Amino acid sequence: MKHLTVDEILDFVSLTDLSRESVELAAKVNGHTRRCEQCRKTVCAFQEIYDQFVRYSAEGSFKNFISEHFSGMTPSASGEPDAPEMSR
Ligand SMILES: [Zn+2]
Repeated sequence: MKHLTVDEILDFVSLTDLSRESVELAAKVNGHTRRCEQCRKTVCAFQEIYDQFVRYSAEGSFKNFISEHFSGMTPSASGEPDAPEMSR
């Protein structure tokens, strides 16, 4: 059995239109993942990452991403007690 390629999975996960190619790809991926757990897991993992990516983009978000992940690293007005991250 021929597995799905990374390109196919990426295209599938990021499908936004309903062109004939998209529908065919979706049918192919769905048909395969029904029988192949390995590819199903890969598709799921890609979907999760893609969802996060889309969520950040939708929130306008480079700014949000930065503030969420790097808050405390930027010099802000003095005196604001940020919880120090000591764990490593
Ligand atoms: Zn497979």
